[in-house]
Amino acid sequence: MRRIDLHVHTNASDGTMTPAEAVVHARLRGLSAVAITDHDTPAGIPEAVDAGAACGVEVIPGIEVSVDYHGQGIHILGYFIDPSAPSLRHLLNWVVNERRRRNEEICAAMRADGIDITLRDLGGDDPASVVGRPHFAAALVERGYASDINDAFRRFMNRNQIYYRKRSYIPLRQGLRVIRDAGGKPVMAHPLQYRFDEPELLSLVGTLTDGGVVGMECLYSQYEPEQSAYLTSLAERFGLCVTGGSDFHGTRKPIEMGVPDVPYELLEALKAR
Ligand code: AMP
Ligand code: ZN
Ligand code: FE
Ligand code: FE
Repeated sequence: MRRIDLHVHTNASDGTMTPAEAVVHARLRGLSAVAITDHDTPAGIPEAVDAGAACGVEVIPGIEVSVDYHGQGIHILGYFIDPSAPSLRHLLNWVVNERRRRNEEICAAMRADGIDITLRDLGGDDPASVVGRPHFAAALVERGYASDINDAFRRFMNRNQIYYRKRSYIPLRQGLRVIRDAGGKPVMAHPLQYRFDEPELLSLVGTLTDGGVVGMECLYSQYEPEQSAYLTSLAERFGLCVTGGSDFHGTRKPIEMGVPDVPYELLEALKAR
């Protein structure tokens, strides 16, 4: 079976591998295709595409954005985006500025407690890299304030913890429209992440489908086969195609690329949408 992974982060956002390293890793993992889906930036795509051409891996240009749903950030994957589309660039500039505002608040709160972290330490002076809470979590681990990333989130960075600061998300309809305007196919990422009950989940999927989402990430590294089967039935019910990926972040998360198995046929079905 030809296998793929449609959810991979690089160090253009909060992954630890360069885009080229991630593509080479896909090759070593025996994958036929990989989608680069960094948070809020297409900056890693050109390097990944070049690496894919050099080592024989099909690279799908993608992105992962958070859209606002009743104040909560819902993750949307956008596949086959044109990274240079002006409306996409404009929107992502707004997101990166909003992240910077929020990140400065987090830095100030940490410094007030004697934790010496600057945005520059986190790569925040590199315009091509998107800094998020995982970078702060990693810095807390490096400085000995937490035992690992999960511990750092649990004690410091999660909602309701001391260094959590809110950021605003893109309005849902606008986010989906901009992905489609950039030639992208919007897909709902990891639908069980939000711990919604079934009526809430159905209502979210309905809203996203109305907004132009064409697929659902039913196969995911954190989901049991029964959960994937349930999501697959939901996708069918809403006329969405089934996609899958790992959410690989290099060493920043204990997730391996290419897990679970995702067959290449799912990519063909997505292309046909
Ligand atoms: P941000 O977008 O900067 O608010 O950060 C949110 C990101 O943090 C999410 O996309 C997740 O990838 C990551 N995240 C949330 N909780 C955890 C956790 N417990 N361990 C590792 N990463 C997490
Ligand atoms: Zn991430
Ligand atoms: Fe996500
Ligand atoms: Fe992700």
